[in-house]
This record gives sequence, C-alpha cells and structure tokens, in this order.
Amino acid sequence: MPQPWSKPLAVDRLSREAAVLDFDIAVTQLPRVSSRVELLGGRVQGRVHFGRDAHRAVAEVTLEGEVQLRCQRCMRPMALPLSARTSVALLGSAHEADALSGAFEPVLAREGRISVAELVEEEVLLSLPIVPMHAEQPQCRPLEQTGPAEQQPAEAATQRPFAGLGKLLSQK
Ligand SMILES: [Zn+2]
Repeated sequence: MPQPWSKPLAVDRLSREAAVLDFDIAVTQLPRVSSRVELLGGRVQGRVHFGRDAHRAVAEVTLEGEVQLRCQRCMRPMALPLSARTSVALLGSAHEADALSGAFEPVLAREGRISVAELVEEEVLLSLPIVPMHAEQPQCRPLEQTGPAEQQPAEAATQRPFAGLGKLLSQK
C-alpha cells in the first residue's frame, strides 16, 4: 500500500503554501539506503517544512531516529542514532546547482515533484558511515577471535568466586 510519504508531490505548490509534512518511516522502506548498507531495522521520524528563498523552492528537513546496521568488524548488529537538520534547495535541473549558495544542499526534484521519502533518504545516506563499525572495542571483536580458545578464560573467571567460596566458609 503506498504511504503518503512515498508520493511525489508538486514542489511549487508545497513551497507556495509553506507546507509542513510530518513523517515516520521504517528505513528498510528506503530503497537507496537498503542498497547502500545491510539494514537490520530502524525508523526515522521528523518533519519537512517547505518554503521559498530568493524565488527558489526550499525545504528544511529535520529528522531523528536510529538505524540498525551490521558492524563490519564483528558482524554483530549495531545501532546508529541519527539526528539531522538540513536546508535543501529543490532544483528543477542539475545545472541550477551551480548558482546555489552553500547554505543549501541541492536536491533534484524531477519534473518539479518530490516525495518526503526522497528527502529523508538523502539525509539518511549523508549520515551513514562508509563502513559501519562499533566505536567501542569491548563489544566489538572480530568473530574469528571469539572461538573456544577465547571463551575458556571467560568461563574460568566466572567460576573463580565459587572456587574461593569453600575456603571462605571454612574460615568461619
Ligand atoms: Zn562490532
């Protein structure tokens, strides 16, 4: 079933009416994000506020959320929080980008139309790391290092308090 955020809308009208559109999208439903990284889940919520700047259609995209990716070091799931606020200029053709000031990210609105999903997709893509990896080492060890050889000392360590318990009780 098509969602409201997946529908291409007329940019002229949205900017003229200063439309405000809220969204809540499962990231797995963003095809360009799915094709860039392996997505395990996640959602993004936020708002697109359309307007005009010097006769140009613009939009402010605010989003918050989280994507679940697969860490490329340990191959376990990792959560990446997303938080972004970007001003975009909605361009009718690619060569309009040359005249654009640095305050706006150019986004191509094909045939003068854009969907909320396309804008969100653009933002999520910009926030993704090239290679997703856990930042902290303790929770992130390559899989080949977590074989039986690695698990043995961990088990021994958890058994040590019980080994000392007999001695402790006999002292009483
Ligand atoms: Zn990891």
